[in-house]
Amino acid sequence: MKLYAPSTIKEIKEKYRFKLSKSLGQNFLTDKNIIDKIIDETDITDEDLVIEIGPGLGVLTAEAAQRAKKVVAVEIDKNLIPILEDTLSEYSNVEVINRDVLKTDLNAIIRESGCKRAKIIGNLPYYITTPIIMGLLEGNVHADSITIMMQKEVADRIKSGPGTKAYGALSVAVQYYCTINTVSIVPKEVFYPAPKVDSAVLRLDIREEKPVSLIDEKMFFRCIKAGFGQRRKTLSNSLMGVGDVTKEDVVNCLQAVGIDEKRRAETLSLDEFAEIANYFSKREK
Ligand code: SAM
Repeated sequence: MKLYAPSTIKEIKEKYRFKLSKSLGQNFLTDKNIIDKIIDETDITDEDLVIEIGPGLGVLTAEAAQRAKKVVAVEIDKNLIPILEDTLSEYSNVEVINRDVLKTDLNAIIRESGCKRAKIIGNLPYYITTPIIMGLLEGNVHADSITIMMQKEVADRIKSGPGTKAYGALSVAVQYYCTINTVSIVPKEVFYPAPKVDSAVLRLDIREEKPVSLIDEKMFFRCIKAGFGQRRKTLSNSLMGVGDVTKEDVVNCLQAVGIDEKRRAETLSLDEFAEIANYFSKREK
């Protein structure tokens, strides 16, 4: 059965009286080449656990199951569970969990799997792309990589560097935790139903060593949040948002690390954010 074919999706909808939920971001993949590309680029071995976020009808799940030791798929929509039991019935190494991924402890699943390595995949529901990515990274998920489909605009933000409009807190955070590879740019026509915008698949390889050395990671993220929270303001003003600092403290900090106080957060590199954060961390001690 070609699970990804629009005719199959329509048959399944009729058979199970399943209604696609727009609010859950249910745009199913209908292109085998893209499915294969996601799976190939994830580089799954027979020792791996694959965790899939939002399996839908199971198109990616079935392919992953043929390569991985185990697949755990987390799906919020209870109406999809009996369908997945059918579409994935031939794979004994698949477990489907009916839960909200944002409320699921993925590290516990990884620990309990007994697998050596874990990889995360998903054609993400677009309404929660950023919370999912940030939840995985800030929660220190013990996986090698995260290969995910998202809106192209979000992928552009993740990849962008200083001095560009798309550069923001998400770019700095993801680049701090991961190296980023573009797997594919995906036109909206390959989904059923087609969303309004194009998509992109990124593989985020979780870094073993961070690119900057920080005294206090929390302070680094406070600086990023403050800087981009007021991105129109110059650094001498926006960094006041770090909290517990006077304007004089901010100006002294910028002078000490050699950054012009008239610059804006969107021009700062990861290294420069780290220098500012480390200055404030030392001062707090
Ligand atoms: N993987 C399938 C595919 O590529 O055709 C479906 C992808 S669809 C874009 C997103 C899936 O995520 C849907 O099945 C939706 O029900 C599910 N989903 C939405 N919100 C979720 C959440 N908070 N936790 C887990 N799954 C969720």
